[in-house]
Amino acid sequence: MERPFEEFGSMVFGEKEMADRLPRPVYQSWKKTVANEGTLDRQTADAIAHAMKLWAMERGATHFTHWFQPMTGGTAEKHDSFLEPGSNGEAMARFSGKMLIKGEPDASSFPSGGLRATFEARGYTYWDVTSPVFIRDNVLCIPTVFVSYTGEALDRKEPLLKSIHAISTAATRVVNLLGDKDVKSCDISVGLEQEYFLIDRKYFEQRLDLKFTGRTLFGTASPKRQELDDHYFGSIPMRVSAFMKDVNKELWKLGIYAKTEHNEVAPGQFELAPVFSKGNIAVDQNQLTMDILRKTAEKHGLACLLHEKPFEGINGSGKHDNYSIVTDDGQNLFAPGDKPSENIRFLVFVSAFLKAVDTYPILLRMSASCTGNDHRLGASEAPPSIISVYLGSYIEDILYSLYSGKNNKKGDRESAAAFSPVSGLSYIPHDNTDRNRTSPVAFTGNKFEFRMLGASMSASFPNTVLNAIMAESLHEIADQLEGIKYLQDVREKALEICRTIIHDHKRILFSGDGYSSEWVKEAERRGLPNVKSFIESVDILNDEKVRNLFTSLNIYSENELRANRIIMAERYSNIMGIEVRTLLEMTRKDVIPSMCAELGFYGETAQSLPKAAIPSFISSRIKELSDLIESTEASCAALEEAFSALPSDIFARGRKIYDEIGPLMKDVRKNIDTYEEKASRRFYKLPLYEDILFDI
Ligand code: ADP
Ligand code: MG
Repeated sequence: MERPFEEFGSMVFGEKEMADRLPRPVYQSWKKTVANEGTLDRQTADAIAHAMKLWAMERGATHFTHWFQPMTGGTAEKHDSFLEPGSNGEAMARFSGKMLIKGEPDASSFPSGGLRATFEARGYTYWDVTSPVFIRDNVLCIPTVFVSYTGEALDRKEPLLKSIHAISTAATRVVNLLGDKDVKSCDISVGLEQEYFLIDRKYFEQRLDLKFTGRTLFGTASPKRQELDDHYFGSIPMRVSAFMKDVNKELWKLGIYAKTEHNEVAPGQFELAPVFSKGNIAVDQNQLTMDILRKTAEKHGLACLLHEKPFEGINGSGKHDNYSIVTDDGQNLFAPGDKPSENIRFLVFVSAFLKAVDTYPILLRMSASCTGNDHRLGASEAPPSIISVYLGSYIEDILYSLYSGKNNKKGDRESAAAFSPVSGLSYIPHDNTDRNRTSPVAFTGNKFEFRMLGASMSASFPNTVLNAIMAESLHEIADQLEGIKYLQDVREKALEICRTIIHDHKRILFSGDGYSSEWVKEAERRGLPNVKSFIESVDILNDEKVRNLFTSLNIYSENELRANRIIMAERYSNIMGIEVRTLLEMTRKDVIPSMCAELGFYGETAQSLPKAAIPSFISSRIKELSDLIESTEASCAALEEAFSALPSDIFARGRKIYDEIGPLMKDVRKNIDTYEEKASRRFYKLPLYEDILFDI
């Protein structure tokens, strides 16, 4: 019998493998390094590298790579084989501590936003000891940070690690002050739900827009859409189920606890969620998951679309970031316990979170944004671009009664025990939050779920931001608790701090329908920002408060922030450039010629008939088509002209692209969509939404 989990973790050099294979002192020295209590010396590194090499070669590995995450949001690797000539010319496999710890990939073409001038293009990778090495396709992959010669971060991992250090320090401080002195450090737990589309690969190959931009740049709605909700949680199609089986197998081998899978709302849309893990590892594993989804799809004759909005009029894809803070002895600081109203530590951490989010809403919004997500945020299926927090009535009631001074224990577990939807079960785990799917940030039981993030994005930056804003908020609380002598007074003071925070930040709480237009007005009244576009939000990195936040916590330097701002704006402009050129190319090479062919067809039909016998449909279709050809080409010309006139300053350019190029692209699209509604399949060969979405 096949044992499905037998291979779990077989391709990861994890803790157990290390314990088994390393001499005791070496293993302990590695443990200390991971816990941030020591550094690896040369001998230890050599010993680990040696054991790693043997382990990897037993599994067929011939190469190793420093796997890193450049600021493009993806991952990068350069392979080196273990092979070296020995002193007598014989082939030898070598992998030293130095090769494990440090690399120089000379990856000078990655965007650095000015951090590296090309004449001093050196960038170095350093082993991230906190994320396990793994094997993929005969390559031993070593998770690394990527920094410049002068020590500035060129990637998204190093700042994340620094932010984890910052949240650990801040959270530990508060926990200690509140009386639990045993806690030495904290970490974050992150669970990333990944949405994606699967389509038949032939359609992907036939559409330049899908290939180059990951989304359809035009396409009229299919006669059937998602109105029946018959896809959502439906039985998984056979082809997809074979694909998922393969994906799971790959993920499990890499020690990724892929757990939940189901059809999503849109046709052809699915979701995969692993069990949460330490934040840094969760982010790495999500990068691997996205890669495995794409590659496995290819093997199955499918294409996996991770774009935030591949199809207009159909739900887009997001990535939900489930976030909590845990102590080194395993306590979840967002866990309300049985009596949340008396759980001061819980109240403090939730209050700190509200304050953090309300202080940096634009930063948080930006951290979850990218070019593709602009089509999703604020559309009627995704969180709006206004940041608010949904706590659920259970926790919200507790906070409000704390604030108003009325002792309300309504939410506590004793009274909640009356909840019993079925009889005969003595134990029913009762969710202490109901669900509000329209909220960008929701408290879901013992964690916050940040739902804005785009499906294609790395989860690194959003978690860096969550850590940073939370760390600052917690430090401010700790400052106020510091020096109070008696624990009872500390607790009184903590409650008073919570009351003040609720008073100052309750405007961020919202439990209504986040998709409604009333909310937009209400949010404006409350003074909550509503930044419409990604490119506009990028400016927040230049905001003084934000710069102080990151520099004071030693997460980003001023230089790094400037570089990130440049890279994001450059990327936006580059992606939009590809979209514009692809749209023009498809319109002129595919669409207009079929319009002309169809016009010719009706023209010839008309000519072949006696004048009196020409159906009025044909005459009006001829008129329609010839008008459409004119207006389609005119819209292309307008787009082309505006695009060539864009300013070269990267920020001004980005703004102009959003304000002017976006609407011009929509004009082209409108023409094509109008044509598609009646286009004859005889002349129009591009796959339509009805083909792409309903054929897997
Ligand atoms: P839903 O779709 O209802 O949001 P899922 O079960 O699909 O729920 O996903 C929930 C995600 O949250 C999973 O990845 C899960 O492992 C993760 N998660 C659960 N508890 C925590 C926690 N304490 N901290 C972080 N993530 C968590
Ligand atoms: Mg979710």
